[in-house]
Amino acid sequence: MKVKVAKTAGFCFGVKRAVDKVYELIASGDRAIYTLGPIIHNEEVVSDLERRGVRVITEEELETLSGGTVVIRSHGVGRHVYEKLKVCGLDYVDVTCPFVLKIHRIVERESAAGRHIVIIGDKDHPEVRGICGWCQGSYTVLKDLEEAENFTPHPQKPLSVVSQTTFNYNKFKDLVEILGKKSYDNNVLNMLNVLNTICNATEERQREAKDIAGEVDTMLVVGGRHSSNTQKLFEICKKECGNTYFIQTPVDLDSEMFQCSSCVGITAGASTPKNIIEEVQEHVRIKF
Ligand code: SF4
Repeated sequence: MKVKVAKTAGFCFGVKRAVDKVYELIASGDRAIYTLGPIIHNEEVVSDLERRGVRVITEEELETLSGGTVVIRSHGVGRHVYEKLKVCGLDYVDVTCPFVLKIHRIVERESAAGRHIVIIGDKDHPEVRGICGWCQGSYTVLKDLEEAENFTPHPQKPLSVVSQTTFNYNKFKDLVEILGKKSYDNNVLNMLNVLNTICNATEERQREAKDIAGEVDTMLVVGGRHSSNTQKLFEICKKECGNTYFIQTPVDLDSEMFQCSSCVGITAGASTPKNIIEEVQEHVRIKF
């Protein structure tokens, strides 16, 4: 079996930085460590951290803590969370990815200038919730063509558009096109400010995954069930290769996936550790 593994598969810079920081805090060893939500969308990594004493907490639980260090993960949080940490007198380590921090600053600035913010992404994703938390005025989250078509811009208020860092670039372009048309129809074309805030790591990963999926018989996308960027990779690959599977670990592999396959492609989301990708690769090579 020929196996092609994407060079861009696995931890991106922002996730690696966040995970390394938590292990560094564990090594320093003298305080309780809490992460505000799971540090990454990967059950293996989160369970390993739990075994080492790291507790995953919710925003509501901040008020119940009496000490320790709270870690803000790479997805970032809204302004009110920093205020809450301050009011509760808690120490924290902020590992929000710099690319996400940049979006916080953009929406803060653009909304302070009186513009309506459009965030293209999933309103329930923690990164998007964090971005919303930095808008100082009105904002809308749009996730698909239907929502963009149904969106009615304010006739005078200019729009500033940003994107969730892991959003699909082609889908982003399609939604922006609809918003551009609406602005044109409203005679406010010059008032549309589009800021493509999709992370390069995501774009490159998606491009490479698409290319590989177009060349293989079976495509494997490795990642956590709740990882949005892995789900998007799966969608992209499925379009190119009908025989695409979403797996979390080698345990999910099944011989049915490889029937009539002579070439298998592997990619992985930003929260998939290197060792899991290697294990999947080994299993495919040896067992099938
Ligand atoms: S995908 Fe990009 S924006 Fe998101 S954590 Fe990784 S490097 Fe940062």
